[in-house]
Amino acid sequence: MNITELVNWNYEQKCRKAVQALEKNGFTAIYCPAKQQAADYILQEARDAQTVGFGGSMSVAGLAVAEKLAEMGKELLIHGKPGLKPEEVLNIMRRQLTSDLFLAGTGALTLSGCLVNIDMTGNRVGSMFFGPKKVIVVAGRNKIVDNVEEAVKRIKRYAAPPNAKRLNKNTPCAKTGFCHDCNSPDRICRIMTVVERKPPLTDLRILVVNEDMGL
Ligand code: SF4
Repeated sequence: MNITELVNWNYEQKCRKAVQALEKNGFTAIYCPAKQQAADYILQEARDAQTVGFGGSMSVAGLAVAEKLAEMGKELLIHGKPGLKPEEVLNIMRRQLTSDLFLAGTGALTLSGCLVNIDMTGNRVGSMFFGPKKVIVVAGRNKIVDNVEEAVKRIKRYAAPPNAKRLNKNTPCAKTGFCHDCNSPDRICRIMTVVERKPPLTDLRILVVNEDMGL
C-alpha cells in the first residue's frame, strides 16, 4: 500500500466505527467510500421529494447535486442565493423547515455516534432534527472526532473562523483565524446542538464519506 492508500484505510476504519455507533444510536448511517456514492444516494432518495432544502453546507455544495435536482424538477430552497432580499431569505429558511428533503452538513461527528453543530440563526440545526420529511446529513471523514468536547473544539478551531470569514462577518476570528469567544453582534456561535439519538419523528440519515469535505 502507498501512503494515500494507508491514509484512506485508516480513515475507513474511523468512518465505519462512526457508522456503527450511529446505527446503535438509531440513525440510518451509510459508509460512502467517496463523494460520488453520497451524491448518488441523495439523488436516489430525492425521487419522491418535491421540495429540497439546503442548509448552507459546503460539504453538500461539494457534491454538486443542486443542478441535477433542478433538472429532476425539484424546487430548491436555497437561502444563500445571491440577490435575495432579507425577507426572501427568511421565507426560504422557514420553508426549509417543512421541506420534503433537507440536506445539511455537520460541524462534527463523534465516534460515539453524535452529531455536534454550532449555528448562528438555528435554521440549519432546527431543520436537521424536526420538520422535514427526510433529512440527509453529509459528514466527511475530517469531521470525525473522539467525543463532544473534541467536537466543540474542532468547530471553534477549524470551522467557525473560516466560516465567519466566508460569510463576511465582523468577528475577531474572521481577522485572526482564532476563536476569541467574542461578544460581537456578528457572532456566528449562538446555538449548540448535540443530537445523541435519532429524533423519533425525523427520518434522519447520515452519509459518512471517506473524503475530506467542507470546513
Ligand atoms: S465565538 Fe466569536 S470569535 Fe469565536 S468562533 Fe464564534 S464568532 Fe468567531
